[in-house]
Amino acid sequence: MTPYSANKAVRRAVRTAPARAGSGGADVFRDFLSLAVLHKDYAQHFSPPDLYAMGLAEDLVPLRSAGIRSLWEEYARSPGRGAVNLYLTVPYCLKRCRYCIFFKKLLSSPRELEDYKDRLAGLARFFGPVFRRLEFANLFFGGGTPSIFTARQLREIFAGPVAGLRVRPGGEKTFECEPLTASRAKLEAARAAGFDRVSLGVQALDRAVLKLLGREYQKDAMVSSFLRSARDLGFSDINADLLMGLRGETPEKFAAGFARLLRMKPDTVSIYQFIPPQEYLDLYSGGDQDAFQRSSLSFRRRVYPLLAAAAGRLGFDAPGAEAFLMRDRMAGSVVFKRRGAEIKEHYAMGELGPADAYFTLGWQGDSYIPAKAFYQTTPLAADPAKNVFMTVPLSGRKAMVFHVLRRVASYNEVDRMEFRALFGRDPVAVFRAELAELARAGLARAGKEKIVFAKTDMKTRFLASMKFIGARRLSARVNEWLSERRLLLRFGRLSYSARLEYSAAGLSLRLSPGRGASRSPAFEALARKIFERSSGAPGGLGGRVEAFEKMMRYAVKGRSGEA
Ligand code: SF4
Repeated sequence: MTPYSANKAVRRAVRTAPARAGSGGADVFRDFLSLAVLHKDYAQHFSPPDLYAMGLAEDLVPLRSAGIRSLWEEYARSPGRGAVNLYLTVPYCLKRCRYCIFFKKLLSSPRELEDYKDRLAGLARFFGPVFRRLEFANLFFGGGTPSIFTARQLREIFAGPVAGLRVRPGGEKTFECEPLTASRAKLEAARAAGFDRVSLGVQALDRAVLKLLGREYQKDAMVSSFLRSARDLGFSDINADLLMGLRGETPEKFAAGFARLLRMKPDTVSIYQFIPPQEYLDLYSGGDQDAFQRSSLSFRRRVYPLLAAAAGRLGFDAPGAEAFLMRDRMAGSVVFKRRGAEIKEHYAMGELGPADAYFTLGWQGDSYIPAKAFYQTTPLAADPAKNVFMTVPLSGRKAMVFHVLRRVASYNEVDRMEFRALFGRDPVAVFRAELAELARAGLARAGKEKIVFAKTDMKTRFLASMKFIGARRLSARVNEWLSERRLLLRFGRLSYSARLEYSAAGLSLRLSPGRGASRSPAFEALARKIFERSSGAPGGLGGRVEAFEKMMRYAVKGRSGEA
């Protein structure tokens, strides 16, 4: 992905951002998006958890393993705490499937995987005191591709980091596989370690679609042989995942592949909506997220009757599938279950409750300790005590904002009773000013039981989230980006630093002569003139910043020979 392609998408978002919505809200939103053009990491992320993950809502504080461990120890001791899901993760894949948003890293050598396995074991030992106190609701071994480990490595992981972990009776232990790397020996190792659920990432069955996905190696026979082995080995819940809405897919082709998969008799088939990364949108949807969502909804409308007919014929049910598929933005999966299959509550089905925590062991993914911290795991260090976790400490109002943003991101509503149970206060009282602005803009409504957010599209949710983060925080972040772009201009004996600053009034220019250099009123007048002229540049404030930088560099180049 080139920064330019990300920029195109953001520029489009700027043009189509909602018009004024409450005092100042839409302006900060538009300014932020337009300036995000300059910052490629931000340019592709808009969802509320992203705001935290990228340190937009709060600064990320690096915490060492011991700090994170004591937060978990406090949580494990606290009365009335919620359930904890454990996610054991491996970031590697053998091949990258085109457009996968979960992909993290291609494996460069067998040594790298061996190291990762050892580091994972070290980290598990480090967190041993916490793990001994907790009984996990579910254990999920995912990735990346967990089946990328050899059978011997898996046995070592199961005998090391996984041995001794307690999962509540009725909780699931899932081992995630991918057809290229899965084998009967690996399934045997997982089964012997007590894993009872296996999930195979099939994604697609149509040959042409698989080719476009870069998974031409995958054959129906591989999938059916995997499902047979899992059945023989006694897994009680055998799932296959499909991705809906991939390029080249039609509702008819998708439904035909779905029917072939059902005939292979998994216990469940989980259908996920394909979430396109920006490079995909740039190539096939003109960079436009909304256009993609519209076509996805129309695909789902056409495919549902075909799926329902195939499921009915082949003995599968999916209560609530229609309503789920017809959501404006589909998040999560719709699960078709074989009639008579006795399966436990599914990880994806058992939505995380507001007081529940999740612990990611490994590199890739987030962890959340309610009312204490949200953090991201960085690449694993050789010494487990030296791992660094990028953390947002959560307490007081920060924890409440975090809760609201998560609920907006996942459910588009906040349950008032649930909030009171967690924080002892009513969210309508805590966020009176923010909710009043959102209500005036028609974006949220506080009912007796719930605060409901009116729209589900990405931009509006982002705008709603910004109200809770606050314009001051956004402006401060934007100013950090701008200060990183400070121009150091040298010509003749003069030197200047030129810096743009953002405030509610827009951009302003700060000029300071270099240390020991004298002022040049002529140069300053020229710089101000250039700054004025940049106001006509297209692309919002981001476009203006770029135009100003370009013109300044050009002006200085023309003068660099002057004495
Ligand atoms: S779909 Fe699975 S195997 Fe393919 S790149 Fe993504 S995580 Fe890796």
